[in-house]
Amino acid sequence: MGKMLAAVFHKKGENGGEIILEQVDIPEIKQSDDVLIEIKACGICGTDLKIMEGAHPANDNVILGHEFCGIVENIGEDVKDLRKGDKVVIDPNLKCGICPACRCGYDNQCEFLATGQTFGIYQNGGFTKYCVVPRRALYQLPIDMDLTKAALIEPLSCAVHCNNIADVKECDNVVILGAGPMGLIIESVIRKHPINQLFVVEPM
Ligand SMILES: [Zn+2]
Ligand SMILES: [Zn+2]
Repeated sequence: MGKMLAAVFHKKGENGGEIILEQVDIPEIKQSDDVLIEIKACGICGTDLKIMEGAHPANDNVILGHEFCGIVENIGEDVKDLRKGDKVVIDPNLKCGICPACRCGYDNQCEFLATGQTFGIYQNGGFTKYCVVPRRALYQLPIDMDLTKAALIEPLSCAVHCNNIADVKECDNVVILGAGPMGLIIESVIRKHPINQLFVVEPM
């Protein structure tokens, strides 16, 4: 078993914690539906900063980073639709895939979500070289996809959801409060639609 460098979160009581670069074991395929990914890019989320400050829960001794993508390095025996070299991006919020909510397409209601399985928060994530995740947590990417950009797919999905529930019409004026990374991604999605006026508010 080889070693890899990882950014490991160490809790300090209730006051957050610190990240320490450590040599850890490269993870191995354990379940038949597991996929070993060589991580190529991982975003830093506002949630990561909250974890450091103690404002968001996370497990001790976990490798942070939940916005990541990479290349398939190895697969379990039941994974039939991915192979070594395929590009993939992760859905960090692991669902069970078999409960009534999951089967009906409401996997955001999956009870398994509440058991604390998120990659990069409750189990090892992307601030390292390799990660093992079940096939159901992965989306395959086009082979010519730029993986630096693909690391933005998770925050982009939040912006697409924001746009969907806002249901902006052509006659609407839209105000986005905050021009941080999320505000700017939301702006790029909203701009795809014809709207009346768009304002982005950011303190100087
Ligand atoms: Zn995030
Ligand atoms: Zn479920």
